[in-house]
Amino acid sequence: MSYLTLYRKYRPKSFEEVSGQKVPITILKNAIKNDKISHAYLFAGPRGTGKTSIAKILSRTINCDQHGTEPCEKCPSCINSNSKECVDIIEIDAASNNGVDEIRELKSKINIVPSYLKYKVYIIDEVHMLSTGAFNALLKTLEEPPSHVIFILATTEVQKIPATILSRCQILEFKKIPNVDMKKRLTDICNFENIKIDEQAIDEIISLSDGCLRDALSLLEKAISFSDGDITEEDIRNMCGKIANKEIADFIDLVVNKKSDELIKKINELYYADYDMLYFAEDLINQLEYKIFEEKQNQNIFSNILSMFIDIYDKMKTTSVNKKIILEIELLKNIEQNDENISREIFLKQTFDKENNVIKNNDSQDENINTSKKTEEKIVNEPLKTLDYNDFKKVRMNNAFYEASKDILNELKNDWNKLKDNAFDKTNGSYICNLLDGLPVVANNDYIALAFPYESMANNINEEYITIEKILVQYLNQKKHVVAISNEEWKQYRSEYINKLNNGLKYEIINDTYINVEKNNNITEPKIKKDDSALGIEKKALELFDSDIIEIE
Ligand SMILES: [Zn+2]
Repeated sequence: MSYLTLYRKYRPKSFEEVSGQKVPITILKNAIKNDKISHAYLFAGPRGTGKTSIAKILSRTINCDQHGTEPCEKCPSCINSNSKECVDIIEIDAASNNGVDEIRELKSKINIVPSYLKYKVYIIDEVHMLSTGAFNALLKTLEEPPSHVIFILATTEVQKIPATILSRCQILEFKKIPNVDMKKRLTDICNFENIKIDEQAIDEIISLSDGCLRDALSLLEKAISFSDGDITEEDIRNMCGKIANKEIADFIDLVVNKKSDELIKKINELYYADYDMLYFAEDLINQLEYKIFEEKQNQNIFSNILSMFIDIYDKMKTTSVNKKIILEIELLKNIEQNDENISREIFLKQTFDKENNVIKNNDSQDENINTSKKTEEKIVNEPLKTLDYNDFKKVRMNNAFYEASKDILNELKNDWNKLKDNAFDKTNGSYICNLLDGLPVVANNDYIALAFPYESMANNINEEYITIEKILVQYLNQKKHVVAISNEEWKQYRSEYINKLNNGLKYEIINDTYINVEKNNNITEPKIKKDDSALGIEKKALELFDSDIIEIE
């Protein structure tokens, strides 16, 4: 089967049949309808997007005796323009060696009236390939074309065309063909040709052809000869030297499960089977994007892996070292780092659980000042005293989200300006000024979270949280545990919160009294209340952020 068979066979015969290109087609049809055809057009856009097809349809429509916006296919002019005898529609391929000669010939014959049709149409493909001499010759004819001549120039590289030519043409921009139009065209052709092909295979062809219908059809042709039955997605991928999707999915599983040894083995296997490592990384990124969209409950895991692979891909692209080595090193490095983060989280969780147990034991006994004091002492002696501010933020943000209330938040927001009155206070003025850089974003009975433009501002507050808490009592009459974060961090916490709610998870108070080691600080103990119904909590979340949520989704 010859390479262009399908492409030639299914070349559109009318504007109606063209895939995509709605804008240039509408412009052309309106010009035809209003009898305002320009004498020189320049069709500019990527290859395989229908420039030449549309040029031919236009030539035949303006010559049709029916004067419609499509060629009628029946009148003597349409029959002539469709036949091999037609000499009035002239196609010149500027990329061929004859470019200059043909333009010279064009120049000498341009004044001769068309032999059969109303208009003589010159279609010059890849016009940017013309030599300077040929451009100059063309320019002369474009300056004052005879009324019976129409030029249609087509190019994939409009930036290479001299401004003097551009200024004499009406330029129509052609875009890559949208996937939905490609899909319709390919499906129609497969139906006409009785080709058995999976929908996923069609999607794969589309993704490989990047908006170029000609490439898509030639891939389809190859696939027909490649596969011995129904054409599947894997057929297409194998044919193009791409790793099967299943193998990519398996590889991602290995990354999720941190199977370093198996990952290295797999990379070597693929490398020695001659697969392109950069292609491979690209495929991983594509599939991860898809997974984030499809598997909402694991969104965080996949988005972390995705951003890791995007970094790795960038490094692979710019390296002069073997790409396989970069892939291996970066992958292992990242997996180990994540391991550290995870063991840190497990460590924190275990320690907090231990803390909660202590408190629970305490609760189960009669409320008694002495035992309570004992517990506090015990906690003070725990190594967690050295908790750093990131963990401080994590714990306190968690606690601020627990039973967060919009009413309390609004009250705080309204009161916030009151702080301004005390900005010049001798002892607390500088703290108050720092506080005024931020705004309350979440609050409940016991906690308030403040967001600041920069992380350094937030850290200043966290470092002095005991003083800040006293200031809130003194000036706003609000007794709350304070935590400060940056606006960036706030975005993250907020989407985590929404994710949790979407997945039916609830916040539980983590005891953080150990952070307040000050001896005489009488802290309101956060109490674990009975769970609301999931529905109630969801509703509360929506009430809590209202417009903010819309911004995220
Ligand atoms: Zn006609």
